[in-house]
Amino acid sequence: MTPDPASFDAAKSYRERALKTLSYGVSSTPRGRQQPAPIVADRAAGAHIWDRTGSRFIDYAAGYGPLILGHSPSCVIDAVKAELDRGLRTASVHEGEATLAELVCETLPAAQKCAFVSSGSEAIQLALRIARAATGRTKVVKFRGNYHGWMDGVHVAGAPGNDGPGTIGQDPGAAASLTILDWGDTNALAETLNSDYAAVILEPVAVNGGCFAPPNGFLAEARRLTKQHGAVLIFDEVITGYRLALGGAQAVHGVTPDMAVIGKAMGGGLPIGAVVGSDAVMEPVSSGRLLHRGTFNGNPVSIAAAIACISHLMEHAPTLYPYIDGLAAQLETGLRDAAARNGTVCTVNRTGSAVQLALGVAEMRGLADTARADFPATARFAGHLLREGVQIIGRGLTYTTAAHDAGDIAETITAYDAAFKAMAD
Ligand code: PLP
Repeated sequence: MTPDPASFDAAKSYRERALKTLSYGVSSTPRGRQQPAPIVADRAAGAHIWDRTGSRFIDYAAGYGPLILGHSPSCVIDAVKAELDRGLRTASVHEGEATLAELVCETLPAAQKCAFVSSGSEAIQLALRIARAATGRTKVVKFRGNYHGWMDGVHVAGAPGNDGPGTIGQDPGAAASLTILDWGDTNALAETLNSDYAAVILEPVAVNGGCFAPPNGFLAEARRLTKQHGAVLIFDEVITGYRLALGGAQAVHGVTPDMAVIGKAMGGGLPIGAVVGSDAVMEPVSSGRLLHRGTFNGNPVSIAAAIACISHLMEHAPTLYPYIDGLAAQLETGLRDAAARNGTVCTVNRTGSAVQLALGVAEMRGLADTARADFPATARFAGHLLREGVQIIGRGLTYTTAAHDAGDIAETITAYDAAFKAMAD
C-alpha cells in the first residue's frame, strides 16, 4: 500500500516548522537528509512506522540498527513499563547493572568485564581511554572508512580521499595520535605497529563502509600483530554486536579481541553502549583508577530493555539469526533482480541482516570502490522507495529485523521495481 502523497506534504510542512527552532529540524544530521522529506513518525509497531496522516511505511532503517526485534517487541516494552513503575532511579546503583553485565559476559567471547555508557560514541571514547591507560601509550591505528562515532578524537578518515575531520568544527589536533591505514591491509599494519601503539581499533565487518566482510586472514593477523607489539585490539561492534550473531563478529570470525565496543542492538531500541574486555585490559577501569563517568550511565530503563533484548536473543538465537539473515538474502536477490530488470548498474552487498545498495558501480569490494559509487543517486532511490512506502537508510543501507515477514519482503520487492522505474523517468 503506497503512502498518500499528502504524507510528504505533511512531512515538508512539519520540517518547515521544526527548522525554525530545532537545529537542522532533527536531532541527528543524517535524519534531516531523507528524501523527499524526513517522515514524521507518529507511532511504530513491529516492522512498520505510521506517520500522522496514517500512512504506513515498512521500516528497514530499524533505528539505524538497534531495532533487531522490530519497533515494539513485547519483551522490551514490558520490561520498560515494569521499570517505569519502579521509579526512574536515575544514577542509582541497581541490580540490573550486574545482571546485564553477566548476560554480556555470557554472550560475547571478549567480555570478562563490562562498563556501561549511553551510546556507541561514548563507549569508543571510553575504550580508547582504557587502552591508553592499560598500555601507558598514546598512538592508535584507525582504518579508513570505519566509523567510530562522532567524537573529535576518532571522527576522521571516513571517506575515500579525506583522512581529515569528518565535519567542520572538529579539532584536528584531537585525532593527532591516530595513524590511518587501509582497512584489510595487513602489510601496512605489520609495517606500522611498534611499541608506541596503545591500540588498533577496527570494525571487524565494515558495515559502514559498504557492508564488507573482512579480507581473509585480516582479523587473525590483526590479533597476532597486536599481541606481538603489546597493543590492545579493539573491535568496534556497535553495529555487529548482537546483530551479526549473539556473539557478534568476534564469534562469527573466530577472533577474540582484547576489548569490544557494543551499543545499538544490545538495547533493543533504548540508548546504551558498553565497553567489554578481558580482566587484564579492563583493569584500569574495573579497579576504579580510571574515571568512567556519566550521569545517565547504566540508567535502569535502558538496562532493563537490554536485559530483555539480550535474554530474548539468547533464547531464540538458533532460529532468529538465520531468519533475519534469510530475509536480508531475499532482499539482496530482489534488489539485484529489480535493478537488472530496469537496466540499472548497481552493487548489492550483504553481511548477515545488513544489505548495502550502491548505484553507479557494478562492483564494490572495498572503500576505494565507494569513491566511484553514486551515493546521491542512491539517496534519490531511497526517496523513491519511501514514496512507495519502504524506508531504508539514505546511504542505501537496509536492516532486516525479527519483526519483518514474507509479506513485507514481497511488498518491498515490488517497491524496488517502482523505485527503479521512477529513477529512469
Ligand atoms: N561505531 C559504529 C561502528 C557505528 O556504526 C556507530 C553508529 O552508527 C557508532 C560507533 C556510534 O554509535 P552511536 O551513534 O550510538 O553514538
